[in-house]
Parts: sequence; structure tokens; C-alpha cells
Amino acid sequence: MDIKKIGVLGAGQMGGGIAQVAAGASYEVVLVDANIDLAKRGKAKIESSLGRQVDKGKITAAVRDALVARITPGASIADFKDCDLVVEAATENVALKLDLFKSCDAAMKAGAILSSNTSSISLTKLAGATSRPDRVIGMHFMNPPPLMKLVEIVRAMQTSEETFALVKSAAERMGKTVTVSRDAPGFLVNRMLIPMLCEACFALQEGVGNVEDIDTGARLGLNHPMGPLELSDLIGLDTVLAIAEVLHRDLGDDKYRAPTLLRNLVAAGWLGRKAGRGFYTYDANGGRTPSELR
Ligand code: NAD
Repeated sequence: MDIKKIGVLGAGQMGGGIAQVAAGASYEVVLVDANIDLAKRGKAKIESSLGRQVDKGKITAAVRDALVARITPGASIADFKDCDLVVEAATENVALKLDLFKSCDAAMKAGAILSSNTSSISLTKLAGATSRPDRVIGMHFMNPPPLMKLVEIVRAMQTSEETFALVKSAAERMGKTVTVSRDAPGFLVNRMLIPMLCEACFALQEGVGNVEDIDTGARLGLNHPMGPLELSDLIGLDTVLAIAEVLHRDLGDDKYRAPTLLRNLVAAGWLGRKAGRGFYTYDANGGRTPSELR
């Protein structure tokens, strides 16, 4: 099988970025969210972010126009019927993803591959909800997908060698380097990252240091490009909490428990950059100040 047309389910920060990267590699892309307006909004965001690159002279207007023309917003999962590969990038929630996997499986043609960009949810479990478990695999792009070089491929227990080879070569065509993880909670990258992000939040909660000291400490003391609190805001605090809960529950070790402060921020709807407020509060000009947290 040759992968020519790719469906992306979820037009949020990851789905939009994945659609952009796939269209940039000359794949035809169908972008679907919970409704057509959200799918169209996802496409509009891609167009405006590429517009900024045109303004800076990084790409030509013709390149932007050709890329954007390869992305078609879809009204529903039924629009995946002739896709060869679907990348699911909806909200990190196991019940939702199981439901979406069943719907995709019913809509997609025989032999097409169904992948998930999940950060932590078991691919073996998602595969088990479909009639094509050998064609299910994890394609874990990093945030933001157009900039980050890695795709972590996660094999479900049922994934076939052919599915793995096809997805690896599609990721490579998108300009990515691939690493492979077994299907274990958090896979490799988030198994390492999420405990560090939670530890930074515990340190803040306990008053060991303030937001800026924690992030500056990681940037200058550990040579990380971003501090853990600003990175948490970028990822989305709902997503960080969802991954921490999977690690805690599935590995059964309290060292993975989520801090109360993180839970409270999510409960307040202060989900980070996408909500305009998290550990930092963001203004319309791209500036930010540490949030007042009580
Ligand atoms: P997001 O909140 O930006 O986007 C989620 C999208 O899913 C939204 O557009 C939402 O409308 C859509 N959605 C919700 N219910 C839906 C439904 N029933 N049908 C179709 N679409 C639906 O979240 P995100 O950061 O883009 O995360 C998406 C996935 O990518 C998650 O599984 C997350 O774990 C994973 N991921 C996130 C990051 C990150 O840094 N944020 C990195 C790697 C992987």
C-alpha cells in the first residue's frame, strides 16, 4: 500500500500542526474536528501561521498557497473514507479516543492505517477497539509539530511489521526522525518528561521558588530551551494532568501523582497558553507575566 491521503482528527494545536507537516510533505490532508467550523478554524490557523513565515521571507506565498490547498476541512469522520492513514489528535481522554477509534474504524477503507498522537494512552487498548488491530499504531509528534524533529512510534502488541514500516516512512517523508517505544504508560518521552514537570509544580506549590526562578533554573542551570512551567503551559495543563494520571494509575507508583496546584489550575480552566492563562498570563502581543496563584 502507498500512503497518499492522510486524515487528521482533532484540529487543535497538535492536529493543526500535524496537518501542516503532512501537507508540507505533499500529502493530501483531510482535517476533521467535532464540527466543520472547528475544522475550518484549524485550517485558518495554519494559513495565518504560514502567513507570518511569508512575511518574514522564510517561505514564498506560492508555497503557502500550495500547502494550504492540500488541506480540506471535513464535516465528520465519514470524510476519512478514502484516507490511507488517519492520525487521531483529539483531546487526551481514553473514553473519547476509544469512541473515536470505533467510528474511524467503521468509516475507513479496509487496509487503511489508524494511528493516534496520544501522549500516554495504551495503543494496545485502542487497537483492541477496532476490527483492524494490526493496522493500529502510535504516531507521537512533539509540540509544535512543524518545528520538532521527533516522531515517537509506538507499537501496539497487535501492530504488524508492514504497518510499522509504512508509518515510519511516512514520518520520514515529513522530515522527522523516528524513535520506537513499546506500548507502556507514557511511552519513552513522557515517561521522562511528565515527572519533571510535576516536580516543578510541586516545588512551586511548596513555595521552594517562584515561577520565574523555577523556569530560569531549568533554562540556565540545566540548559533546557524552556523551563518546566512554561513548557507545561505550552503543552496544555489539561494534557499534562491527563498524562500524569495515566502514569500514576497504570504504573501504580505514587511518585507519579499529580500536584494539587496542577489539578486546581485545570479545574479553574487555566489550561496554559491555549486558554491565555496558566502558570503565566498571556497578553495579545505575545507578552506574559507569572500568574498570581493562591
Ligand atoms: P487541543 O486541546 O489543542 O486539541 C484537541 C482537539 O480535539 C480540539 O480541537 C477539540 O475540539 C478536538 N476534539 C475534542 N473532541 C472531539 C471529537 N469528539 N471529535 C473530533 N475532535 C474532537 O489538544 P492538543 O494539545 O492538540 O492534544 C491533542 C492530542 O495530542 C492529545 O492526545 C495529546 O495528548 C497529544 N499530544 C499533545 C502534545 C502537546 O504538547 N500538547 C504533544 C504531543 C501529543
